[in-house]
Amino acid sequence: MITKWEGIPRNEIPWNPTVDDSKCTGCRKCFEFCSHKVYEFDEKANKSIVTRPLECVVGCSSCKGLCEAEAISFPPLSILADMVKARSIKPSTPA
Ligand code: SF4
Ligand code: SF4
Repeated sequence: MITKWEGIPRNEIPWNPTVDDSKCTGCRKCFEFCSHKVYEFDEKANKSIVTRPLECVVGCSSCKGLCEAEAISFPPLSILADMVKARSIKPSTPA
């Protein structure tokens, strides 16, 4: 697992898929596609669940495009640019 992205601790970056259970049809595509093991498949409920959100590659949203049920969502990409920008603004040091 990466611990930082653009110098920002990974656990401070809210980038991961969210599955809407009410839409998920249990097709498994996201679970089978993601090599980073972000998902597990709940056989009983017949749904994919996000169990390792911090393993999601920052900026990736490939699984979303695979979901024909449109059950997967991500935050807007702009949050990443905003985080990088905020980090680049250094607090002024007292003279
Ligand atoms: S791709 Fe969509 S419908 Fe298929 S298991 Fe994943 S979330 Fe559910
Ligand atoms: S966005 Fe990419 S890394 Fe993240 S869960 Fe989907 S396929 Fe895996």
